[in-house]
Amino acid sequence: MIENKPEIIDVFQRENIEIKQRGNSWWAKCPLHEEKTPSLELDTGKQVFYCFGCGEGGDVIAFIQKFKGLSFKDAIAYLGITNKPYKVDRKLEAKRKLANEFREWCHIYYCKLCGLLQALDKAKRSAKNLEDINKIANFYHEEPIWDYHSNIIFYGSDDDKLKLYREVKHG
Ligand SMILES: [Zn+2]
Repeated sequence: MIENKPEIIDVFQRENIEIKQRGNSWWAKCPLHEEKTPSLELDTGKQVFYCFGCGEGGDVIAFIQKFKGLSFKDAIAYLGITNKPYKVDRKLEAKRKLANEFREWCHIYYCKLCGLLQALDKAKRSAKNLEDINKIANFYHEEPIWDYHSNIIFYGSDDDKLKLYREVKHG
């Protein structure tokens, strides 16, 4: 796949080929054959040219090949195009995946904390005797931690959240 092809109009201008706009399209006197009236059309949408006089056509690379008499490789070099196969950036992909996981975790963990805090609150309010209180006593010292964590997720910076994520996930 060819990336960063220059605009076909720019290339025509750079080659000092006069182009004129007529309606929605651009026209030039075809430099590939002798002519007095423009019959070469530039399609800026598809980034191709076509000459109704001599029947030549193609993209900007094909044009430079014909106009300058260059091979495909030389035309690419002439246009300053990088001819590299498109590669998936695995590092970036992994990073995105991690960011998504992290965001999802924040959401899930926050919901979990809210649920725990609510449940504890409810248990505290419905506790009627020492036995009830003893049952939930173990959670009492967890409460400030849940509070603290949910505050980080709600108000904290991404760095704070990431720190928390690592702490909770990996202990
Ligand atoms: Zn022509």
